[in-house]
Amino acid sequence: MNTTASRWVDFHCHLDLYPEHSALIKECDSEEIATFAVTTTPKAYPRNVEMAANSPFVMVGLGLHPQLVAERAGELRLFERYLDTTRFVGEIGLDAGSKYYSSFEEQQRVFARILRACDEQGGKILSIHSVRSVSKVLAQLEQHLRPGRATPVLHWFTGTRSEAKRAAAMGCYFSINAEMLRSPKSQPLIQSLPLERILTETDGPFVLVDKRPARPTDIRESVEMLAAAMGAPPGILAAQVLQNFRSVMAAEETGRP
Ligand code: MN
Repeated sequence: MNTTASRWVDFHCHLDLYPEHSALIKECDSEEIATFAVTTTPKAYPRNVEMAANSPFVMVGLGLHPQLVAERAGELRLFERYLDTTRFVGEIGLDAGSKYYSSFEEQQRVFARILRACDEQGGKILSIHSVRSVSKVLAQLEQHLRPGRATPVLHWFTGTRSEAKRAAAMGCYFSINAEMLRSPKSQPLIQSLPLERILTETDGPFVLVDKRPARPTDIRESVEMLAAAMGAPPGILAAQVLQNFRSVMAAEETGRP
């Protein structure tokens, strides 16, 4: 991972869900976009690692998406087998939306087990989903991760301002995407986040830009929107995001927050 040369940060993108997976990796490399390529199942992980093996800008996360826990909980052992080969973990988390609520107990069991394994190994960077379950996610982080053992990044955070404050006090970062920035309702929340805890993400292909799936190269537009939301010049905001990204990577290397 070329942390120093990175110019942009896409801290949550599903590169393997695009037909043009390898072309996207090339774009990340040529545009120098540090990209956290999340996966949704442990089975998908080795292929992603292979695809990004020569990329200095793509970090592959080992994931078990909460929306897939109902059918994929059996891959947890595979997850645990791969875990010590990577510092990047995601997408993981909880989803209490109506479609996934029937697996919520099992999601909690899986998430707790993943967090305990991350705590045990130390130094992991986690990209976490928390739809309708922010307080449960934060409670689990508190319960299973000792301070400084991992760096949690809350992706597409939709909690309240007080939950954001609690998360920040626990050492969490927040990765912000275009969909959040387009929502007027999210503005006060985004503005309340500490600048030194903000990262950017596309969450492509789930987030759309101009009615097509977002790509890592769309991150520049998000940086501009985020700068406008924060009332900061885009160049300053972009530099801040890069600095935050480097802090996350450095914390990971020493195992300290
Ligand atoms: Mn995602």
